[in-house]
Amino acid sequence: MNRIFSGMQPTRQLHLGNYLGALRNWVSLQDQFESIFCIVDLHALTLPQDPAVLLGNTREVTAAYIAAGIDPERCVIFNQAAVAAHSELAWILSCHTPMGWLNRMTQFKEKAGKHRENAALGLYAYPVLMAADILVYKATHVPVGEDQKQHLELARDIAGAFNRNYNQEFFPLPEPQILGEATRVMSLRDGTKKMSKSDESDYSRINLTDDADTIALKVRKAKTDPEPLPEKAEDLEKRPEADNLVTIYSALADISKQDALDQFAGQQFSGFKGALVDLAVAKLAPISTEMNRLMSDVGEIDRILRIGADKANAIAAANLADIKDIIGLLRP
Ligand code: ATP
Ligand code: MG
Repeated sequence: MNRIFSGMQPTRQLHLGNYLGALRNWVSLQDQFESIFCIVDLHALTLPQDPAVLLGNTREVTAAYIAAGIDPERCVIFNQAAVAAHSELAWILSCHTPMGWLNRMTQFKEKAGKHRENAALGLYAYPVLMAADILVYKATHVPVGEDQKQHLELARDIAGAFNRNYNQEFFPLPEPQILGEATRVMSLRDGTKKMSKSDESDYSRINLTDDADTIALKVRKAKTDPEPLPEKAEDLEKRPEADNLVTIYSALADISKQDALDQFAGQQFSGFKGALVDLAVAKLAPISTEMNRLMSDVGEIDRILRIGADKANAIAAANLADIKDIIGLLRP
């Protein structure tokens, strides 16, 4: 049986990168796969969080999933901390993961910054917890943005190492699904950095909850170069900011970058930005309206998360029991 697992951290509000690189793809995949979507609150702890804000963000990300089109009747939606098997399997897998594999992870280097000695152990071990998130459900497919490719390769390596060590095909090797035109949306302020929730500048990203005026302001302030839009998509290669805005437009419009350029070639960015604002507002306004409606009944969100946690726990606990039997951990 094919099963997908994916998640987002409740670190601030979701942005256009999360939506175009992952969430939108989840919505179309839920028809083909048994789907498990997590709000990965334990991952959020790898950097300092305010407890009340973390709690609020967990509910808001849940609302964003549902508002974007994830059906809580058909899919399992829950928060990671509610299913203890994630943490238990993370420990077991960390004992099967050479430190050399983790030393290669580029996200740790970026997030730890200059003072690596002060970074939390959890930030370093994060990819092992991510492997556990996926493997505890024996998920076969993992739809993510391009930035998670390296972590997913590590999850495959860990699964393969476990299978070889215990001489059985227990874990399927999870397939990354990096889909669509916008697998790596870049910051609006710097075309060489990815759009991130953790970027301190709110002008670097468009949040799913931004209103029309905020979207207009952010797009107007977005960095570009003085050249007009080119005729050919290849001519965007050395123009990261221009490339990013055209990528966002084409992904939102569901057309190729070349089709977008066929409409705007030769125009200045000021005109194109107006069209981009209109499109972004048209696509995001229904999501934020629905999010606001859902957030007005927190009890209902908590109910959905509770039902999801029960379903997730049933699968995860059974797999964890098998894993304990395989490795010789007594279950009295
Ligand atoms: P943080 O800065 O806290 O790490 P984030 O913006 O990177 O936040 P995550 O919660 O880490 O978001 O990632 C959730 C999902 O969104 C993942 O599948 C990730 O690959 C995807 N994603 C994140 N940023 C982008 C982006 N800029 N473009 C495309 N996909 C993205
Ligand atoms: Mg991230």
